[in-house]
Amino acid sequence: ASSGESKKRVERETKEGIDCRKLENFSSWYQQVVIKADLIELYDISGCYIFRPWSFAIWEKIVEFFDAEIKKLGVQNAYFPLFVSERRLRTEQEHLEGFAAEVAWVTKSGSSELDEPIAIRPTSETIIYPAMSKWIRSHRDLPLKLNQWSNVVRWEFKHPTPFIRSREFLWQEGHTAYADRSEADHEVLQILELYRRVYEELLAVPVIKGTKSDRERFAGGLYTTTVEAFVPANGRAVQGATSHSLGQNFARMFGIYYEGKDSGEKLMPWQNSWGCTTRTIGVAVMVHGDDRGLVLPPRVAPLQVVIIPIITKSASADVISACEAICSCLQRANLRVKFDDRSEKTPGWKFNEWELRGVPLRIEVGPRDVQAGTATIARRDTMEKWSIRVPNHSISEEEDAFAQEIHQTLVRIQTNLFERASAERNARIRCVSDWGTFMQAIVQRCMALTPWCNLNECEERVRQQSVQDSLAYRERLATETDPSATDAVLSGAVKTLCMPFASELERLGLTNAAEWEAPAPEKQCFACNGPARRWALWGRSY
Ligand code: AMP
Repeated sequence: ASSGESKKRVERETKEGIDCRKLENFSSWYQQVVIKADLIELYDISGCYIFRPWSFAIWEKIVEFFDAEIKKLGVQNAYFPLFVSERRLRTEQEHLEGFAAEVAWVTKSGSSELDEPIAIRPTSETIIYPAMSKWIRSHRDLPLKLNQWSNVVRWEFKHPTPFIRSREFLWQEGHTAYADRSEADHEVLQILELYRRVYEELLAVPVIKGTKSDRERFAGGLYTTTVEAFVPANGRAVQGATSHSLGQNFARMFGIYYEGKDSGEKLMPWQNSWGCTTRTIGVAVMVHGDDRGLVLPPRVAPLQVVIIPIITKSASADVISACEAICSCLQRANLRVKFDDRSEKTPGWKFNEWELRGVPLRIEVGPRDVQAGTATIARRDTMEKWSIRVPNHSISEEEDAFAQEIHQTLVRIQTNLFERASAERNARIRCVSDWGTFMQAIVQRCMALTPWCNLNECEERVRQQSVQDSLAYRERLATETDPSATDAVLSGAVKTLCMPFASELERLGLTNAAEWEAPAPEKQCFACNGPARRWALWGRSY
């Protein structure tokens, strides 16, 4: 780095900025960003975090969007208890086995042991469906579409990561029941599309929609669809949100029956469940953040614009009133704006702080600006700066045009973040058809798209073999080259992320959808050489 650059770095560090680089030490970079940008406060129970207002406001934006969209689909909100009895939790065996290791139990009240321990919900199928069995009696009771906004607890063993993998998290869980199977299937995809919009339109994070492999499917469900995101800085994919078809399995176990329209016979409904969590926030931080800290997409940023006065003794009153006028003009245009008028902090300190906290746009106003009728604008995503004319406040057309220009700039930032993230993600998808090139893609921290047999045993072998091969590659690097280069090689198991929908592969520019839907019969599985049935996307993931 040039001396100018390192001077700036030192300056940032002394102002409590991020003291490591995203691409050099990703996990430490992430820990610092979430804490120093005031998103979370650490807590004394591992895997639990305090959401400070700066992150909770992002969650509220997601809630606002998603809640309005599901209500358009006729979904109603309700609330069910936090606790579940052991008997109910045991009702569906496969479901229980899927979650058993992560369930937290309450065994005492005060100093006395409870007669029967009660579990804290890891998800609420077993809490909601006994109630549904009372509410669904006739075909007229269907479809039944419920959602709850709540917290759940999963006592994860994997290393916790704020937002991404926590032991308590906030989410919405939708639970619906249909008489008609095709209507239920249709809803699975409608919800998945809303999840895509949360990621792509609100958080500016590109995702790939697809179906989970049998091994990765929701425990007890029929099939699971997912939106998969990717963090280019460390080569890990993240399961963004999931929409499950539960088929009739839970209905059978929980005795949910209704009387058919024509025959009067007892029928079971088709059920779905779907969930999206506060993981969303972590994914956006990981994808967009940079060495200065957080970079927030304007649609979810708690503050979109911050106004900072550059005050000298002689001109302070003019500068302050110019800032106040800009602030109220933007407030009237419904932008989320703040005038940072703290007198105890210097402008430079404030620049660093709001950059660290990711505010998309900064407006600076100094004495010379006031004289010239201008202000300086700085974009957080590109760090570009330019001068603009500020409106004459007695002319409302000028104010409208100014607010419109700021709004347009925010839209451009939103678009730029999405396009930048998409280009980085796309550059990390490799189409491969044999083991050698597969592992090459993996050690280079890419995702691999392969023809696949779609068999459980094969996925299990890929997981094991990929661990061994990564370790061997690491050792070879250590002996042949620089030992420190081995840190750059991830060592965890590779798994299927999803089997992408044909429409997604088209969206990625991998045309010829007919072929992508299912590989030609003569194609072989890249791993076991058996007949390939699906295209699968593989990678390391959180
Ligand atoms: P599930 O009910 O298991 O399908 O989970 C729904 C969604 O929750 C998943 O698609 C993940 O995106 C997210 N998720 C799972 N585990 C965690 C966790 N420990 N912390 C935050 N989000 C999670």
